[in-house]
Amino acid sequence: MTETIVITDPDTDRYHTFGYISWWQQETVKDAVVLVVGAGALGNEVLKNLALMGIGNILIADFDTIEDSNLSRSVLFRESDRGKAKAEVAAAAVKELNPDVNVKAWNGDINFEMGLGVFRHVDVVIGCLDNREARLSLNRFSWAINKPWVDGAIQELMGIVRVFWPGRGACYECTLTDEDYQIIGLRYSCPLLARENILQGKVPTTPTSASIVAAFQTQEALKIIHGMEVQPGKALMINGLTNDIYTTKYPVKDACMSHATLEPIVELTDRSSVDTTLGELLAISRERLGPETVLEFDGELVVSMRCPDCGLESQVLRKMARLSESAFTCPNCGGRREMLLTHRIDGSEEFLSCMLAEVDIPALGIVRARNGSESIYYELTGDVNKALGFE
Ligand SMILES: [Zn+2]
Ligand SMILES: [Zn+2]
Repeated sequence: MTETIVITDPDTDRYHTFGYISWWQQETVKDAVVLVVGAGALGNEVLKNLALMGIGNILIADFDTIEDSNLSRSVLFRESDRGKAKAEVAAAAVKELNPDVNVKAWNGDINFEMGLGVFRHVDVVIGCLDNREARLSLNRFSWAINKPWVDGAIQELMGIVRVFWPGRGACYECTLTDEDYQIIGLRYSCPLLARENILQGKVPTTPTSASIVAAFQTQEALKIIHGMEVQPGKALMINGLTNDIYTTKYPVKDACMSHATLEPIVELTDRSSVDTTLGELLAISRERLGPETVLEFDGELVVSMRCPDCGLESQVLRKMARLSESAFTCPNCGGRREMLLTHRIDGSEEFLSCMLAEVDIPALGIVRARNGSESIYYELTGDVNKALGFE
């Protein structure tokens, strides 16, 4: 394939020098949609690079706020940003670095709060994470909707960069050892405390290792966007103490739990999480799969909570994973409340008239409809502008 080299005016075109790179396609870069998960040390450096290159559409996801200790490794943050949402401050800084770039901030926990369809509608995901749990979630999402992701990890002067691509080589979960599972398992021994614990796992990092690893991550994403060759399932290991850089290939685990792709995914282009009720989605599913069809959620939905001491019962309709420990305290008498859980909707529920958003299904969510062994995954594609409408 011959690619056209376009040489522009250096006075008026900020991308002028890229025009000399034989394979660089500024239009392709401009049209790209990239999701950056995590706006910490790695995320800052990745975002800076994406902005400089003119990556056209960037979605930044993070749940955290800025504290002063972030300032030593975060080029996009200032002292005056203390207490502000990382995703929002990073988005504003990216826009300032390069006004050509469309950027959107998303505040929340990707483990439970981001619609799976969001991952489906981007070209590549860059994981700038600091814990195994979020990497495992991202990896499973990546497999579910068949999208490559670029992982970066840093600790002191060490770094690892890995491209994971469903069906092409080992995935992140294939690389996990028994010890990794044990660490994740320990944190999940009390699932309700897991989230709080994850937030505490701080790894010592430097701005130099963040720059190095983030630079490689951005380059791999750039190659994926251009359709160039990458090496999924291989790790680029960077030892900043000895200056050794080498690659190593992981074996694929046959019994890996992550290797599951949702099929078929049906786009409901005029349906969104805020204007479709649970009952309506069930009806749509039954039209296609038959009257016995049920809707199934990945995790448990807390329908209601009841206090055995004073008898107070209240509707909840939230994913169990999103509840904090304090939600179990009865607001009336301080007793410990019990949960009524479900993960299956069969049409007998009292809350069928609730909008999907009201039963904790996020924008661009994907919901499984099942009749016996036959399944369809419905995507709330009507949310695409809300979830990915770039400014
Ligand atoms: Zn795997
Ligand atoms: Zn009570």
